[in-house]
Amino acid sequence: MTTLAPLFDTHCHLDYILRGSEHPDVGVAPQFKDVWGRAEAAGVCALVNPGVTPGRFSEVFAASEMHSNIFAALSVHPTDVSDISTNPEWLAELEAQLSHPKVVALGETGLDYYWDTSEKELQQHCFEALLKLGVKHKLPVIVHDREAHDDVKKVIASVPGSQGIMHCFSGDGKFALEMIELGFFISFAGNITFKNAQPLRDAAKDVPIEWLLIETDSPFLSPMPFRGKPNEPERVRYVAETLAEVKGISYEKLARITTENALRVYHLENQAIC
Ligand SMILES: [Zn+2]
Ligand SMILES: [Zn+2]
Repeated sequence: MTTLAPLFDTHCHLDYILRGSEHPDVGVAPQFKDVWGRAEAAGVCALVNPGVTPGRFSEVFAASEMHSNIFAALSVHPTDVSDISTNPEWLAELEAQLSHPKVVALGETGLDYYWDTSEKELQQHCFEALLKLGVKHKLPVIVHDREAHDDVKKVIASVPGSQGIMHCFSGDGKFALEMIELGFFISFAGNITFKNAQPLRDAAKDVPIEWLLIETDSPFLSPMPFRGKPNEPERVRYVAETLAEVKGISYEKLARITTENALRVYHLENQAIC
C-alpha cells in the first residue's frame, strides 16, 4: 500500500457493522473506534451510511453522529418496500427526517429483481417517489440496481432533474454512459476486484474519471483477498487500487479525483472535510 491518499467510501452500512450479530456477514459487532480507526489508518476521510428502512433510521443517525465526517442517507431499500405498503404516510414521515443535519442524500432505493422479496410495482412506485423527493429537496439519490437495468433507466428518465449515484454498479460501459447522461455517477464496490469481474473492469474503463466513485457497501462484498469475510470501510482502498490499475493512473490520483467527485455529488465541496 502506498500513501494515505484521501478516500471517500460513498456507501457503507456502518449501522449494520456496529450492530454486528444481527447480520450473518458481520458476526460480533466491532467497536466504532476500531472500525473508524482502521478506516482512518487506511486513508478514509469520510463515508455515507445509507438507510434501508425507516425502522433503522435512528441507528443510521446514531452512527452519523459518531464523527463529523460520517453522513447519512434515508430511504426504503427495494427489498424492504413491503415495510411501507401498509403505511400511507411513509413518504411524509421520511421527508420530515431529512432536516437532520447529517443527511446528504436519499438512498438506497431502486429496483432489485434478483431477490424475489418485493412486488416489482411497489418497488417502482417507491423508487419514483424518492426520485421526486430528491428533485424537490435537491438531494442526490443512491440507486440500487440488481438485474433491473432497463426499468431503472426507465424510472429515472421519467423524473427529470434527478441526480445521484448508481451504487455497486453492475452494468456494461454502454449502460454506464447512459446513466451518466441522466446525471448519475458510477460507483464501484469490492466485487470489481474479483477474478471473474473482467466485464465490470471493462465497464470502468469506459467511465470518464470525473464520474467515478468508490464504495465498500460494507459489511457486504469484501474485496479480494478478503472475499466472503465481513467488509469494513478501510477496504475501500482495494477498490481504489483496482480502479487505478484499470484507468492506468496512480493510486493517489484515483483517490483524489474520486474523493472530489464524492464531495461534489453529496454537495459537501464547501466543507473542508477531506
Ligand atoms: Zn445496494
Ligand atoms: Zn447498500
